[in-house]
Amino acid sequence: MLKTKPHINFDNSYSRLPGQFYTRQNPVPVSAPSLIRVNHALAEKLGIDPIWLESEEGIATVTGNKVPVGGDPIATVYAGHQFGGWSPQLGDGRAILLGEILDKENQRYDFQLKGSGPTPYSRGGDGRASLGPILREYIVSEAMAAFHIPTTRILAAAATGDHVYRQNILPGAILVRIAKSHIRIGTFEFFSSRNDQESLRILTDHVIQRHYPEAAKHENPVLAMLDAVIENQAHLISSWQQIGFIHGVMNTDNVLLSGETIDYGPCAFMDEYHPETVFSSIDRNGRYAYENQPAIGRWNLIQLAQVLIPLLDKDPEKATELAQESIIKYISLLTKSYQNGMTLKLGICNAMTDDIKLIKDLLDIMAEDKMDYTLTFRYLSDLAGDDTGKGVGNLVTLSEKFSSWLDRWRKRLVLDAQTSIQRQARMYAKNPVFIPRNHLIEEIIQAAVEDGDFHPFHQLVDILNHPFEYKSALKKYALAPRPEQVVHETFCGT
Ligand code: AMP
Ligand code: MG
Repeated sequence: MLKTKPHINFDNSYSRLPGQFYTRQNPVPVSAPSLIRVNHALAEKLGIDPIWLESEEGIATVTGNKVPVGGDPIATVYAGHQFGGWSPQLGDGRAILLGEILDKENQRYDFQLKGSGPTPYSRGGDGRASLGPILREYIVSEAMAAFHIPTTRILAAAATGDHVYRQNILPGAILVRIAKSHIRIGTFEFFSSRNDQESLRILTDHVIQRHYPEAAKHENPVLAMLDAVIENQAHLISSWQQIGFIHGVMNTDNVLLSGETIDYGPCAFMDEYHPETVFSSIDRNGRYAYENQPAIGRWNLIQLAQVLIPLLDKDPEKATELAQESIIKYISLLTKSYQNGMTLKLGICNAMTDDIKLIKDLLDIMAEDKMDYTLTFRYLSDLAGDDTGKGVGNLVTLSEKFSSWLDRWRKRLVLDAQTSIQRQARMYAKNPVFIPRNHLIEEIIQAAVEDGDFHPFHQLVDILNHPFEYKSALKKYALAPRPEQVVHETFCGT
């Protein structure tokens, strides 16, 4: 008999782990699936035919109405510290891991449906997602990828034809999330809190093999894994700080061992720069404010380090010492990465000690004069080369203090060994002009939810695919919000 090639080349490793890591669970079918968008570039990278994904069978797969050949659907279990409080039992309450795929470079990725119906971990929730948060996650995660920030990705989004009941009745939607894995600090915490050392060992081995194979060669592989996770988090959070991204819900169940950003619920990009900015409607105390993110990252890593202590050394005292030594490295890694990144944003490639003050003074002026974070750095990029009048100069307001800071910056640039053409090209590649601004996201959600018009969504996705390339015709997408457009709160995706 002729066997046809499967459309998705699954190779599932997590569902081959023992049963305590998940529950086998099929997605619950939806009534009238209709495709919103397939991410063609990502599909091709993953070796999946995007045209097939747009077919009836592809849409049925994306929405959970059909389990594809080779899929082995599971809901995974985890726990977590949410806003500092301990939640002993979480898990995929509205997500199903259909399986894993290997891309053309043999990199393994989870193929996960989000919004796919109740699971044993739904804790009374409906397991569904509404259209707004699905569009939001699509836009923000794909923008993060375009900024070269490690992130989960979106392969496709579809409407379900069903309603979800929140404060209002809303259209339901589903997305396919791609991640190097969905293993979280909270996954480790789940087994540790039950004193299940065997599972902890299995999970650690899995993570080493999957994400940190070079750690396996180290004399203490668990320590090498912890160090690598710490280094990845330091770089990740540094990159959020540099771009002005506020995650909003940095709970330990939202920290991936792979070092990718996950959970685009209450997140936002800053418009006006202010270090104390908070957007999340549920973050009443500002625990996850912009300026707190580096420290919260450390807090989360300490939870991981603590859980790993029994695996770090037979002698608990020695193990604790090792864990502490690793954690200590985090802040200096992050600071170094942040300072490097910020000097590059200013167009300086051979950093000098005084540059830290130059950056700090600029940020202070920006905060005081309520300057737009993104446009200020983009404007500096315009100024670094010949002023052709095609930049964003007409979109920013300049203060006196900023103008005198510019003199200092120009003097500093003279000492830097780059031609102005090189410098400007590097600054343009480092300072995006388009970011997923909240008011733009709100606009596209409103058009989709209220009028069924997805055109603005597609347009925004397309623009954010090229966030470093300014065209004055797209000025509307670069502009900071007018006072009446400012969004003060974002809501988590439930
Ligand atoms: P999140 O805020 O997305 O990090 O979710 C926190 C926990 O709540 C996770 O265990 C989710 O699976 C669960 N959860 C969130 N929304 C829903 C929902 N609509 N139905 C069931 N579980 C949910
Ligand atoms: Mg989450």
